[in-house]
Amino acid sequence: MTGRRASGQAGSEPVRWLFGDQLGPHFLDSDDQRVLLIESRKVFARRRFHRQKAHLVLSAMRHRAAELGDRCEYRTAATYSEVLRDRPAGAELTVCHPTSYAACDLVERTPGVRLLPARGFATSMAEFAEWANARGARRLLMEDHYRLARRRLDVLMDGDEPVGGQWNYDQQNRLPPPKATRGGPPVTGVGVPAPWWPEEDEIDDEVRRDLDRWAADGDVGFIGVDGPRRFPATRSEALAAFQHFVDHRLTAFGPYEDAMLAGDPWLAHSLMSSSLNLGLLDPLELVRRVETACRHDDLPISSVEGFVRQLIGWRDYIWNLYWHLGPDYRFRNGLHADRDIPAWFAELDADAVEANCLSSILGDLRDHGWVHHIPRLMVLGNHAMQRGWNPLQVTDWFHRAFVDGYDWVMVPNVVGMSQHADGGLITTKPYAGGGAYIDRMSDYCGGCRYRPSVRVGDDACPFTAGYWWFLNRHRGTFAGNHRMAQPLRGLDRLKDLLALVEQEDARGSAAP
Ligand SMILES: Cc1cc2nc3c(=O)[nH]c(=O)nc-3n(C[C@H](O)[C@H](O)[C@H](O)COP(=O)(O)OP(=O)(O)OC[C@H]3O[C@@H](n4cnc5c(N)ncnc54)[C@H](O)[C@@H]3O)c2cc1C
Ligand code: SF4
Repeated sequence: MTGRRASGQAGSEPVRWLFGDQLGPHFLDSDDQRVLLIESRKVFARRRFHRQKAHLVLSAMRHRAAELGDRCEYRTAATYSEVLRDRPAGAELTVCHPTSYAACDLVERTPGVRLLPARGFATSMAEFAEWANARGARRLLMEDHYRLARRRLDVLMDGDEPVGGQWNYDQQNRLPPPKATRGGPPVTGVGVPAPWWPEEDEIDDEVRRDLDRWAADGDVGFIGVDGPRRFPATRSEALAAFQHFVDHRLTAFGPYEDAMLAGDPWLAHSLMSSSLNLGLLDPLELVRRVETACRHDDLPISSVEGFVRQLIGWRDYIWNLYWHLGPDYRFRNGLHADRDIPAWFAELDADAVEANCLSSILGDLRDHGWVHHIPRLMVLGNHAMQRGWNPLQVTDWFHRAFVDGYDWVMVPNVVGMSQHADGGLITTKPYAGGGAYIDRMSDYCGGCRYRPSVRVGDDACPFTAGYWWFLNRHRGTFAGNHRMAQPLRGLDRLKDLLALVEQEDARGSAAP
């Protein structure tokens, strides 16, 4: 059974088939191009997504259809194929390069569809391939890709030199959170106003009713809780959120990029990932705006550079690696991590966990479908890797649990960056860390029943003990890695290693 909201008028330009993450004007060729958008129920039936992610994606698609009005043929169906089969013979569709291998397969299998290059990224696949191929056996360093992109796109450059004379401001950025935050609403823990929040409308009401009904019918299930929509569903909302970030929060972004605070998941982050990944905004337009703000409004270069680095550095690097590394990369499991993700983690059951960092972050994720990159990398991913959970399951979990999770972005970030499952193709050493790092970068440890400096006994921090437990299990794998030589020497010096291993073998994947 397929539904139809509005049908397009006949015209000469081929109809543009838009996927649900291609919602901005830059995915169309003209202001009057006709559009096909398909809402497939099966996408939600196949996997249990975070409730707020399902809401955001449906809300964004339906808002776009409403904006396009008669130009948009909005079809609701069980599957994409149901709609595509139904199209008149000879009616050509064009589609911008989709963002996953599965969607590419679908496009290839569908007759009468012309594939266009990808949009919504700053470095094209051809540009990346040229760079990657020229490197031969040398590692594909993010920093090199980023500097090349800065030069090619002329971003924050004074001639051939970077603005401010430095490519990198990591020394000034990545501070721990301020000790005494004068906070209290509406000012957050790092001294900036709270993010801009959208207001829900009747389209959101309709989405909520539909999701409730589907769940009640038993058609779909969700993880996480429902809550007010926090992330933009339209381009105008996304632009308003971004302007607010530039005006009020960007200055603090750089210094506190890596800080974590209980009770303030947002800190000074932009919260732009879901808008970028839905295609509402183009990364280069954001880059040009912050560059202008830097040159004319006196915003600190360290914060502006830190943000630009995320957008045309990390984001494009991850996107291009997804394609460069091929469809089988997701199955890498170089550390032979075969344990199943436990139910408490899979279900975002923060209340089952005593470890303050993990419990707070799982709670933030349950409540919002978002936490920033350090909780993802150094708490959630770190814990999964230390405990030896299967990277394919971890990737799938991240994909479903985060409002900004899509195949292209989760696979390299989780398999490569976070789980070191690719044998070190992306990172030179695993992002494993103990409680000392979390203690330095957050206020979690003060209120925790464990102590970050303790590795054996009742108070043993699961991250500190987990770190040594992990290193000990993979001693052989890391033996030849010079960046791991020092940690391995530290491991050899531990007098209580046997007791630690026994303790962590017993703890295993239980909620700490
Ligand atoms: C294990 C793990 C999983 C991740 N999964 C995702 C994901 O599914 N979707 C996602 O968009 N990001 C992912 N990231 C990257 C990063 O955590 C988020 O982009 C960021 O936290 C989103 O919040 P923000 O918009 O406030 O980002 P900011 O900190 O304000 O950064 C600005 C923008 O930079 C881009 N960016 C920065 N780092 C990355 C990166 N590594 N990969 C892709 N884009 C990046 C994002 O578009 C982000 O909006 C992941 C990181 C890790 C370590
Ligand atoms: S002591 Fe360990 S478990 Fe507790 S908050 Fe600190 S790092 Fe997390």
